Amino acid sequence: GDRTRGERSAAGPVIRPVTSPADGQRAYDLDRAHVFHSWSAQGSLNPFVMAGGLGSTIWDFDGNSYLDFSSQLVNTNIGHQHPAVVDAIKAQADILTTVAPAHANLARGEAASRILALAGPRFGKVFFTNGGADANENAIRLARLTTGRDKVLSTYRSYHGNTGSAIVATGDWRRIPNEYSRGHVHFFGPFAYRSEFWSDSPEQECERALIHLERVIQSEGPASIAALLLETIPGTAGVLVPPRGYLQGVRALADKYGIVLIFDEVMCGFGRTGNWFAFQGFAGDGEVTPDLITFAKGVNSGYVPTGGVIISESIANAFEDQVFAGGLTYSGHPLAMASIVGALDAMEAEGIVDNAASIGRDHLAPGLAALAAKHPLIGEVRGVGVFWALDLVSDPDTREPLSGAVVAQLKKELLARGLMPFVADNRIHVVPPCVVTAEEVAAALEMYDAAFTAVEADL
Ligand code: PLP
Repeated sequence: GDRTRGERSAAGPVIRPVTSPADGQRAYDLDRAHVFHSWSAQGSLNPFVMAGGLGSTIWDFDGNSYLDFSSQLVNTNIGHQHPAVVDAIKAQADILTTVAPAHANLARGEAASRILALAGPRFGKVFFTNGGADANENAIRLARLTTGRDKVLSTYRSYHGNTGSAIVATGDWRRIPNEYSRGHVHFFGPFAYRSEFWSDSPEQECERALIHLERVIQSEGPASIAALLLETIPGTAGVLVPPRGYLQGVRALADKYGIVLIFDEVMCGFGRTGNWFAFQGFAGDGEVTPDLITFAKGVNSGYVPTGGVIISESIANAFEDQVFAGGLTYSGHPLAMASIVGALDAMEAEGIVDNAASIGRDHLAPGLAALAAKHPLIGEVRGVGVFWALDLVSDPDTREPLSGAVVAQLKKELLARGLMPFVADNRIHVVPPCVVTAEEVAAALEMYDAAFTAVEADL
């Protein structure tokens, strides 16, 4: 209720709301008793109880606030409780709250046209989904139907979503093609810091990664390959910004062999890199545009579950006389669509994508480089915009990944100082909302510095 709502003072800072520790305990107890979680064994869970949030700050019921440098799974690009998005959802809720996918409604049409305007002239239509995983499911299906081929090539270091069995279990005609049980082939993308190609420069890494990919394509048989699916910047795998020219090289291979190129921008899209789409940031080395873009998260900052596939004009046209059997009941849900329009309006009006770019360039890049220079546990800093990772090592020379126990200690130290981190394997991902301010970044950098200092003292 009102007790957990944040406010901004005239000067801007979040006023810490009044909260009740008893409510927090109740939320925790109900969760532990009744909620079945993924990604952790049920018995070892100790979930953070979130009471509310505003902008880049979240808080619990005990009156502790935290800088949210996780963006809740790299999602809340516009920050928490942005009034334009909340109001758009409320206004839509007063009009219409459910529409079957086959019917049209205003919010959906507006959301699609706004997304297409940002993606560029190659694209013709948007197919809406409930999130990122089903965006990828449908992009793969589009590529298979368009090419008449089966195989999908994707990288080892990737995360594309957690679905894929439901359709195999389906018994009616929609199970055909039974697309999840066959045809997935993996390859190595470029990653100079931990190279699979024995390269010693980004240029060499790029060249060898492209040779490797072409050999995989040739070995699998180009005539069997429907799609090349890659995160433009692999996110969960460690913010692996590809070297210059790599994406252009992949585009050229897709063209050479008639393969549909899918960029998964679920995590890196809609402002996180300081561009509307991550691929737009690589245009300096020659324009590089995929055939399909999958998105979710940042499009509406997750205020209502949604996602989708942005479809090139030529692929969309191929379905003028062909049925695409891909819809879900909630695809293009009106509350989600209204929240997209509200979010994109506010992001444009407030220059939020430019903020991500300048925060990255002027504050995070130099600040994190200084942090790494001071702390030998940080082996490499990678990123762009508000999308960064610290690759942590026990030894900077061997680049041996830092042990889970030490990483867990760092997480504890960060929480104790008021920073909610995003931790994956041996890495801390520095992924605040795109609305983060220079002051908040400065405060966070101090917290990271102090946490590393504290952990190093114990080693
Ligand atoms: N693709 C990428 C690049 C992601 O990072 C994620 C989620 O983190 C997904 C797809 C899956 O999205 P969702 O969890 O909305 O299904």
